Amino acid sequence: MINIKKISIFLLLSLTLFAQDFDYKLKPIKIAKNTYSLIGETEFFSVKNGGNISNSSFIITKEGVIVIDTGSSFRYGQQMLEAIKKITNKPIKMVINTHHHPDHFLGNQAFKNSTILASEYTKNDISNNGDLYIINLLNLTYKWMNKTEVKAPNKTLKPFVDKYIKLGKHKLKVIYLEGHTDSDIALYDEYTKTLFASDLIFYNRIAATPHANIEKWIISLEKLRQVDYKVLVPGHGPISYNKEPFDQMKRYLIYLDNTLKESAKKGLSVFEILQLNKPEEFRNMDMIKDEFERSIINLYPKYENALMN
Ligand SMILES: [Zn+2]
Repeated sequence: MINIKKISIFLLLSLTLFAQDFDYKLKPIKIAKNTYSLIGETEFFSVKNGGNISNSSFIITKEGVIVIDTGSSFRYGQQMLEAIKKITNKPIKMVINTHHHPDHFLGNQAFKNSTILASEYTKNDISNNGDLYIINLLNLTYKWMNKTEVKAPNKTLKPFVDKYIKLGKHKLKVIYLEGHTDSDIALYDEYTKTLFASDLIFYNRIAATPHANIEKWIISLEKLRQVDYKVLVPGHGPISYNKEPFDQMKRYLIYLDNTLKESAKKGLSVFEILQLNKPEEFRNMDMIKDEFERSIINLYPKYENALMN
């Protein structure tokens, strides 16, 4: 009986996988003049979503296209490129990777003939750990990762030197920040007043914190909030036209930080922290269970140690 059940599940799974055409069905939405975003699911990596869980964007200028982040696989990069080509025949002039997380750079390979820009830290992390990210995503999204290889950035963006990226009428201020990772680049297009906030903003989706420093993250949010934008593209979650994503993000980080600090003081175990009541605002938000649990497991030892020293 068990075997039959197992075999049926296996067959069903195989059929599901077989039936898949590995099409992300990317639909660029126009968010400002010459500017488009591809909005990912507010979910964790899965075979169902193929790793399409983050946002990427592109700006079409007279002199060529600027791509901001390239998704989580070679397939994503290719399909993003196809989607761009349906809108413009301008060449891809440059790609910018906002940080070193795999859902933001593993599509680089599709843009291998372009200049790929990132901060020194991001460039190094991708070069050193890119293969590990691929293995990790292979386990989570399976065949969606076919033929994905690391294509590391080939040009470095340097603070104080590379303050702006200019192409056609578009002038992007490069804002060097940290907190979500050790290096997060936000971009502000002064021409369209569009702010690409990278993963410093998760909107209506609980934040991922595997490389986070919450204190630094909050400082970065306060700086970035000052930008006089009209359109905000978060790293994850829907486009926004107001400051609410900043406020929501800050409230969550403060809640997470306080929970960790208070729990360390009381000597709670991870299990006990996970049983605590959550504020109503976050209780039903996408990814609350997985990301909150991951955050507590990753960050709690640091808070416990801080208390001991
Ligand atoms: Zn990230």
